[in-house]
Amino acid sequence: MNEFLSTPIVYLKGIGPAKGELLQKDLGIFTFHDLLFHFPYRHIDRSKLYKIAELREDMPYVQVKGVLSNLRTLGTKGGQRLVAELRDETGMIELVWFQGHKWIKESLLSNKVYIAFGKPTAFNHQINMVHPNLDDPEELASKRYMNIMPLYNCSDKMKARGIDSKAIMKWIHALLSDSRLQLPETLSAPIIKNMNLLGRSEAIYEVHFPANLNNLAKANYRLKFEEFFYIQLKLLKYKVKRHQLFNGIKLGQIGELFNTFYHHHLPFELTGAQKRVIKEIRQDVKAGFQMNRLVQGDVGSGKTVVALMSMLMAIDNGYQACMMAPTEILAQQHFLTVQSLVKELPIQVKLLTGSTPTREKKQIYAALESGEIHILIGTHALIESKVNFKNLGMAIVDEQHRFGVEQRAKLWQKNSRPPHVLVMTATPIPRTLAMTLYGDLDTSIIDELPAGRKPIKTILRFDGSRLAVFGFLKSEIDKGRQVYLVYPLIEESEKMDYKNLVEGYESICREFPEPKYQVGILHGRMKAAEKDFEMQRFLKGQTHILVATTVIEVGVNVPNASVMVIESAQKFGLSQLHQLRGRVGRGAEQSYCILMADAKQSNEAKQRLKTMVETNDGFKIAEADLKLRGPGQLEGTAQSGILDLKIADLSKDTEILAQARLVAQELLDHDPDLKLPENAAISHSQAIYQKTAKWGRIS
Ligand code: ADP
Ligand code: MG
Repeated sequence: MNEFLSTPIVYLKGIGPAKGELLQKDLGIFTFHDLLFHFPYRHIDRSKLYKIAELREDMPYVQVKGVLSNLRTLGTKGGQRLVAELRDETGMIELVWFQGHKWIKESLLSNKVYIAFGKPTAFNHQINMVHPNLDDPEELASKRYMNIMPLYNCSDKMKARGIDSKAIMKWIHALLSDSRLQLPETLSAPIIKNMNLLGRSEAIYEVHFPANLNNLAKANYRLKFEEFFYIQLKLLKYKVKRHQLFNGIKLGQIGELFNTFYHHHLPFELTGAQKRVIKEIRQDVKAGFQMNRLVQGDVGSGKTVVALMSMLMAIDNGYQACMMAPTEILAQQHFLTVQSLVKELPIQVKLLTGSTPTREKKQIYAALESGEIHILIGTHALIESKVNFKNLGMAIVDEQHRFGVEQRAKLWQKNSRPPHVLVMTATPIPRTLAMTLYGDLDTSIIDELPAGRKPIKTILRFDGSRLAVFGFLKSEIDKGRQVYLVYPLIEESEKMDYKNLVEGYESICREFPEPKYQVGILHGRMKAAEKDFEMQRFLKGQTHILVATTVIEVGVNVPNASVMVIESAQKFGLSQLHQLRGRVGRGAEQSYCILMADAKQSNEAKQRLKTMVETNDGFKIAEADLKLRGPGQLEGTAQSGILDLKIADLSKDTEILAQARLVAQELLDHDPDLKLPENAAISHSQAIYQKTAKWGRIS
């Protein structure tokens, strides 16, 4: 960063130590550079003047011109406000300020003409404006940049001290007009030309003070593109580096186990998508570099068998494999599934979780080191440092969204040469987010469900129709089906939720009496052995209804279960609802998801439930989720750095992100080390970006 831009903010004319401190504290603005990169949250068109008589309370921000009079402070200390009148030839409005009145009063003159800018509101049948901005018309006319005026965020504390949006605007304008300012270009000439981008310096000027709305759009585009470009460049460089640095384990041959399994033990025909993804994995592992691949596939798309066949590739070449799941229930289930699929193959499969008895753990550790165990399935107990493999060749991470990046990294260290890593996720992730969260991985998508699946019917029912719902459950159970009934478990009110769960269980037991009906219960407070017992009973069809918390959310697979009832569905997030719904619809029967909800609920909750009823498509649900909640609330986003985005918006700027990624990819294809002279600026900016991890600091 050049010297001028790194000047501390207190040295800007009109700021000084006190205001400087507030800017640092409340907005994180420390330097001139930071101020320039405090972008406006919107602009307003100030080219139109209204007459006072035209003002209506339903108008947005507008401006009127008139003479100021009767400026006075009303009320007693604590509840004080500043009031004034503004008059033109058509009428009068009252102007009111509740904050910062001291300095506002000092800065205004009675009997002077002002342009007042603000939102008309009605009070006592009169129109007034609260906290209007007042400008001298002559000053305004001399400043072209005020025509489309930027609005900046500032805290209440700042406003009380006279630092409002306008003050910030003036400071930024002063900076942009300073002859010492240099904003070097950060992208290459070919990229700017091909993508038809504004130059950087122009873009920064126009994003604050656009000559017109078209320029504003172009400035926004350029800056968003740049922001995404550097994130993508970083991710893609990781990928290139990994391919260059790590000699992967070469799984050269497709052997006996894979073939025997494929031809004789596979219980179904693979879907086209499964075959394609297995081929993609195969291409990776025989190539000699280390695979890092993400398999995305909606719930029920059949990821487990893809994982198993990948593990067989490793074992066929003399290596071990492991598979990590986020919960004990899921690990247990994978263990049973895998064990039964390979039962006729000469393969040792073991399960390792937190509740494996110590003695057995020790045996497992020893058998892993000797190479006796071929496949180890487990929870994160599997990445503990005590777990050492003889030669781990393939590591699978199921439901990756539950794991952090560090856990993935720990797997690499389980072998002197990092094993191939396959991560699988069903949590629908919007494309933009996937490109960012997993941008360093190669991706495969299973975009096809096994044949013969009927789409799940999703129905919203309010609490009043509970009896009808019970009737429906009985008719399904009589047909031989099974039912999940899920209660929310939200940590803050765990006790209450638990009470709800137990009460729910008791009322279900009354409604569905033994011996005709068998009801089971499953929740996080039960011991692993108890959970296992209940799960097994349900799996074998011995219980008809399983009352549970979200412990069954991920991965659980009981094809005969065809009804999922979700209690207090308004309390669940979209991706959770989708995961839960994915527990049914796994067999050939028609399946149902019944969302039970309070009739009274927030708009956002309504929107979520509506989305669930309308679509079964995980990707559509993910997009809706991102729009409703913003990226900050989505799982896995916290560590990714994408929350530091200064101007781009992951929920809206999908196209720009896709283009930025493509351009970054092309760049690396041509010039992987950014050595070409035309890419000097990019190489330089990238280095700074790596250090600060904040795009906004590049200059
Ligand atoms: P997920 O992708 O959610 O992990 P699973 O691997 O648990 O899905 O598979 C869901 C169900 O579909 C399982 O019962 C599995 O045996 C079955 N299945 C997987 N692939 C196929 C296929 N190609 N044809 C039919 N059934 C399949
Ligand atoms: Mg699964």
